[in-house]
Amino acid sequence: MTATLTVIEPATEAVLAEIPRAGAAEADAAVARAKAAFPAWRAVAPGDRARLLHGLAHLIEDHLEELATLEARNAGKPIGDARGEIGMVVETFAYYAAAPERLLGDTIPVAGGLGFTVREPLGVVALITPWNFPLCIAAWKLAPALAAGNTVVLKPAELTPLTALRLEELVVEAGIPEGVVNVVAGPGSTAGARLVEHPDVAKVAFTGSTAVGRAIAATAAQSIKRVTLELGGKSANVVFADAEIERAAAAAPGAVFGNAGQDCCARSRLLVQASVLDTFMDAFHDAVAEIVVGDPLDPGTTMGPLISAAHRDTVASFVDAESPVSMHGEVPDGPGFWYPPTVLCPVDPGARAATEEIFGPVVCIIPFRDEEEAIRLANDTIYGLSGSIWTRDGGKALRVARAIDTGVLSINSNSSVRVSTPFGGFKQSGIGRELGPHALDAYTETKTIYYDTQEH
Ligand code: NAD
Repeated sequence: MTATLTVIEPATEAVLAEIPRAGAAEADAAVARAKAAFPAWRAVAPGDRARLLHGLAHLIEDHLEELATLEARNAGKPIGDARGEIGMVVETFAYYAAAPERLLGDTIPVAGGLGFTVREPLGVVALITPWNFPLCIAAWKLAPALAAGNTVVLKPAELTPLTALRLEELVVEAGIPEGVVNVVAGPGSTAGARLVEHPDVAKVAFTGSTAVGRAIAATAAQSIKRVTLELGGKSANVVFADAEIERAAAAAPGAVFGNAGQDCCARSRLLVQASVLDTFMDAFHDAVAEIVVGDPLDPGTTMGPLISAAHRDTVASFVDAESPVSMHGEVPDGPGFWYPPTVLCPVDPGARAATEEIFGPVVCIIPFRDEEEAIRLANDTIYGLSGSIWTRDGGKALRVARAIDTGVLSINSNSSVRVSTPFGGFKQSGIGRELGPHALDAYTETKTIYYDTQEH
C-alpha cells in the first residue's frame, strides 16, 4: 500500500490534497531516471537547450494564475505576492535560457602548447527546497542546473509540494525529455536524506534551516559531494538619524513581515539610532497597523497565516509575558495558523528573540548610539544573509555596507533578491551563491585540456 502525504491549507486547516508520499525507494528511482536521461540532455546543442528553457518560461507564464493560486493556498501567502513569485519563476527560466550559450571556456597559452578550459555539467543534481517560497527557490536552482546540462531530482518541502509537482508536468509539456526533471515529494528524513547520501548524486543544492544544512554538509563530506547551502538569517535593518525617517518607517514592515516573517532575508532586527527612536516608532506603528492579516485569496490581504500549527508554537515561544511588546496586530477568528504582526521594543541585543531566527512576524527594535555601535550590533550574529541601511549620506551608506558581514545589502530599500545578481550568505547563512551570471559555476566543473604543440 502506498503511503500518503496529506497537504494542508494553512489558512483553513483543511486538507488541500492527498498525494503519494515518496521515501528512499522513490528517491532511488528518481535518481536512476535522472542518471539515464543525463547523456542525452548534456548532448543537446546549446541553442536547443536555450529554446526549451524559453519555451518552459512561456508555458509557466501561461499558467501563472493557476500556479499562483495553488502556491497561495498551499503556502498561505497573499495572492498578490504569489503572482509576483511565479512571475519571478518565469523570469528565472528566461534569464538562464540565455546561459547555455554563455558556458564558455578560456584559452591559456602554456609552455609547449595550449591549455584550454571547458565547462562540464556535474551529472545528477539533487535540489532540496523549503516551504516559504516553494516554486521560486526551486526555480533558482532548476534553471541554472538545466541550462548547464545537468539532470535533476527536486525534493520540495513536504508541506508545500504541489507547485513543484505541477511544474514537473509543465516541463514535459514544454518538450524537455522525461527524466531530466524528477520531483520526489516526501519527508526530508527519508527521501531527502537518501538523495544526499546517494552515490549517483553529484551535487546537492539546498535551501533550508542551518541545522539541516549542517547535517547535509556532514553527509556530503563523506564522498566530497558538491554542496551549495542557502540557510537561515537574522538580518539587520539599520536606520540612521539622517535617513528619510518617514520613508524608512513605511518600508520597515515589508522588510520583516513579508511572507508573515517566514523569509530567510527578513530584517528581524530593526536597529534605530536612539536620537530618532520616538519619531521612527510613531511612524512605524502606523505602518504596521495597516497590515491586513487574512484570507490569502482576498486581494486586500497583505499577510497570511503561518505554515503550520507547530511552526506557530515555535514563533509564539519567542514572545511571553516578560517581552517588551509595543504592538500586536489583529488576526482573524476561526481556523488557520494565524499569528499577529508583533513589535518588541526595546530589545536587549543578547535576548533570545534578538539572536535566534524566529521565522515569523516578530520584530526586535534595538536602539544604537553611533555608526560604530550599529556595525557591531549588525555583525553580532552567527548569520550574514541580508540587510538594509537607511541614510541620506551616501559615503556612510557604502562605508557601513562594506563593514557589515552579509551577502546582500540594500541602501534605502528592502530589496534582497534579483534574478540577475548573486544571492547567498556569509557565516552560517550558507555556502555559495545563487542567481546572477555566476550561479552556473555551482552547476559545472571546469576541465582543463592541454594540447602539446611541440614538434616531436
Ligand atoms: P528545513 O531545513 O526544515 O527543510 C528544508 C528542506 O530540507 C525540506 O525539503 C526538508 O524536507 C528537507 N530536509 C529536512 N531534513 C533533511 C535531511 N536530514 N536530509 C535532507 N533533506 C532534509 O527548512 P524549512 O523549515 O523548510 O525552511 C525554513 C528555513 O529555511 C529557515 O531557516 C530559513 O531561513 C531557511 N531559508 C533560507 C533561504 C536562503 O536562501 N538562505 C531561503 C528560504 C528559507
